[in-house]
Amino acid sequence: MPRWLLAIIALLAAALAGVGGLLLYTGTPLMEIMTLLASDAVVELRKDMRPARADGPRVLVVALDGVGADEFRDAMRSGGMPHVSALLGAEIDSAGGLFAHGLAKQNVLSILPSTTYAAWTSVYTGEPVGETGVAGNEWFDRETMAFVAPAPVSVREHGDAVRVYSDSLLHRWIAVPTLFERADVRSYVTLAAQYRGADLLVRPDAGSFARLAASFASGVTDDDSDWEAYSALDQAAVTETLNAIEKHGIADLQVVYFPGVDLFTHVADSALREQEHYLTTVVDAAVGRLLGAYRSHGALDSTYVLFVSDHGHTPSIADDRHALGAGDAGGPADALKAAGFRVRPFELETEDAAYQAVLAYQGALAYVYVADRTTCPNSGDRCDWTAPPRYTEDVLAVVRAFDAAGGTGRNAEKLDGAIDLVFARESRGVQPAGPFKVWDGDSLVSVSAYLAANPRPDLLDLERRLEGLAVGRYGHRSGDVLLLSRYREQDPETERYYFAARYRSWHGSPSRQDSEILFTLARPGSTGAELHGIVQAAIGEQPSQLDVTPLILKLLKR
Ligand SMILES: [Zn+2]
Repeated sequence: MPRWLLAIIALLAAALAGVGGLLLYTGTPLMEIMTLLASDAVVELRKDMRPARADGPRVLVVALDGVGADEFRDAMRSGGMPHVSALLGAEIDSAGGLFAHGLAKQNVLSILPSTTYAAWTSVYTGEPVGETGVAGNEWFDRETMAFVAPAPVSVREHGDAVRVYSDSLLHRWIAVPTLFERADVRSYVTLAAQYRGADLLVRPDAGSFARLAASFASGVTDDDSDWEAYSALDQAAVTETLNAIEKHGIADLQVVYFPGVDLFTHVADSALREQEHYLTTVVDAAVGRLLGAYRSHGALDSTYVLFVSDHGHTPSIADDRHALGAGDAGGPADALKAAGFRVRPFELETEDAAYQAVLAYQGALAYVYVADRTTCPNSGDRCDWTAPPRYTEDVLAVVRAFDAAGGTGRNAEKLDGAIDLVFARESRGVQPAGPFKVWDGDSLVSVSAYLAANPRPDLLDLERRLEGLAVGRYGHRSGDVLLLSRYREQDPETERYYFAARYRSWHGSPSRQDSEILFTLARPGSTGAELHGIVQAAIGEQPSQLDVTPLILKLLKR
């Protein structure tokens, strides 16, 4: 199709979607917008889709973004999720999470960061950040000097969020095989960004998605508490999924991702209560429509239905004091500048290539990337980012700057009392990275030694999860210095701080509330005890987020 025709189609589509639809595409190259706008919601990803198996077991994954295990259970127990409750059947043993036809695994932890893009990539690969290469909602890549922001936090431009669907953005960054590649069965994916290897993709409506992405990047605004736009995204995706099933039949593996519930929770007035309300009002009905389609095809009894999430949410205060976000005076960049670093501007793409430090935000965590400043001493010099920074003069200089700022607000007044822990390591440049250590105020010590001297039972499974974040071929994408903001579940909201613009709720930390994910399996044709036996044999008694892919492969007998 010629470009001029695409342009006309795009303009017509934008006009139909409302003028605002087009205006909000700031920062995205026009061709990509046009491609997305002009293209179908349902995309066949292969010339010939894999044939569905005649009698192999099927799996339906209901992927609920940002839904904590507690919130899902409470919504169910309130009686407000009749479709999900009917699927699971009567609760038999609440402590063991056993239902007549379901099993709700408890105390299942996310990876670190407990943040969307990194966590879902681990869900769909079974590998942690150090191996997947998808380090968070945004990250810096030393090898290419690219700043990547599929869910922008420190930057405002949402071009990468659109490229996730228009240009398969994540697929060039995911360094390990996906579930869909490994399972090698007919797979349909609705809205999930990690669809490499699937047969069919349902994409979001371009107009509403870009509006939501822009809204997310700019934080809480006055008209956010209305969930219409968020639920429209989730509901339209289910409608398109049902259309795809009608046209092509049921797949062996179907993923349906609900991003709206998370986006809404970030801005809702009373985040956790509103999230439960969203589950009972929007999600349950949507799940009911999906299950109804399986039932009408005679496939429900034999289908494993897995409810899974990427992280939970912890309420926060949406003001400039608690939002340590981008570019504000007295924020993290000022601590770096005062230590003599030229800091990369908070822009998705920047003309300034002479920076010596980069910040990438993940809510309760922030990554700081540091260059060897001897490779770029003068203003205008481009640093050699493939080389590791010097330990004392570059890495420890950053650690000391944030230690001082967190203790007294020195050079960055917003950080006063807002930093919980500072982690760092001896950088290896672009070589496979080693583990983070903790700054104890005097030197860097191992995580285990630090916790032995300073018990922190609120930081769940910290050493193992930090290792998954830091160690591996792409461990360098989580930075040379790692900041954990003070974002403790046990503190009042007034004492919680986060690296982002203003929101009413965030996540990213190793705390229970941020980390405990939904992990519930159901199958009408199986008893809960049978499901328990299957799960136990496949992934053991205490699985983590990294066990989702192994479990699905086992259920599919792959
Ligand atoms: Zn999320």
